Amino acid sequence: MVISDLPPLRSGWRTGLRRLGGAALDALLPPRCPACAALVLTEGTLCLDCFRTVTPIGAPLCHRCGLPFLHTGQGAPLPGDPSGHLHCARCVEGPPLYGRARAAWLYDDGSKRLVLPFKYGDRTELAGLLARHMAQAGRELLAEADLLLPVPLHRGRLLARRYNQAALLAARLARLSGKPWAPHLLRRARHTPKLAKLGAAERLVVLEGAFTLAPGGAARVAGRRVLLVDDVLTSGATVSACAAVLLAAGAAQVEVLAAARTPGPGMAEAG
Ligand SMILES: [Zn+2]
Ligand SMILES: [Zn+2]
Repeated sequence: MVISDLPPLRSGWRTGLRRLGGAALDALLPPRCPACAALVLTEGTLCLDCFRTVTPIGAPLCHRCGLPFLHTGQGAPLPGDPSGHLHCARCVEGPPLYGRARAAWLYDDGSKRLVLPFKYGDRTELAGLLARHMAQAGRELLAEADLLLPVPLHRGRLLARRYNQAALLAARLARLSGKPWAPHLLRRARHTPKLAKLGAAERLVVLEGAFTLAPGGAARVAGRRVLLVDDVLTSGATVSACAAVLLAAGAAQVEVLAAARTPGPGMAEAG
């Protein structure tokens, strides 16, 4: 909550409250829903109406890429895989470079009301709420991870935005899970254009060489199970490019945890 959201107060009160700081304000003022500012019982939780607008991702889903299936008849086990985990058609055909990917919510109108202000609107306090939902969706991935790495922003974009939203999420997830994280180990060597309108082949070209490791970074990822953290997972091209760098440096495994993911073209298809 920011001071400008507060009901009008006498100026002396305002100055006093400002001096008390955020934690004290939380104790004095009733908690509000971070999406719509309705009163809620617990600080940092969504009100019932906003909770209903987000779409949590749960089973059934593709064991590999986390694509949600519409019903249990979708997906197929990999030939010869005794676990019998269901995979989407794309992952049966050619699995991604990363191991598993999971996301808390579908990237739809409901989750955009939280993710977009967090990403572009300086609403950095939303990191706590998003990370808690991510920790739930990715609890198996977090349990296995040795090191959490945020998908980096290019320095130019970081200067303009002032924060890397993926790093804020990784920091929160590290605190929740007790796992170490490293904000500057993986670097974006150059600015990349928005990938949304590019085809798969163009994305590969654009992302070629876009990510590197900081000096000495290879030693820190070698043999480690790395969990990449990002806000939104779309085509998976960005995290695949990061995974390629980490695997080449000797990472034992690279998995992905995001706040939200696009439904993907295969969501409504059988298989
Ligand atoms: Zn609300
Ligand atoms: Zn899949």
